[in-house]
Amino acid sequence: MSYGAVAATDSRTPLTSLDRCDACGAQAYVRVRLDVGEFLFCAHHATKHSDKLRPQAIDWYDETSKLRAADARTHQPADD
Ligand SMILES: [Zn+2]
Repeated sequence: MSYGAVAATDSRTPLTSLDRCDACGAQAYVRVRLDVGEFLFCAHHATKHSDKLRPQAIDWYDETSKLRAADARTHQPADD
């Protein structure tokens, strides 16, 4: 088994705007750890692949709630 370049990655390190979806290059909000390594996904692709990947995932680090919070701030009128 080889973890290669991802060996030093702490699976609980918060995702940043520099982390990009492996499928489309959008900002990543989910980090999935598998036997073969790690994958980063945007909210869209995390949802799309979750049925397939969740059963195999060693760790599923999900920050999509942060995205929804940002969305809410964007779309809701300010109270103050
Ligand atoms: Zn994506």
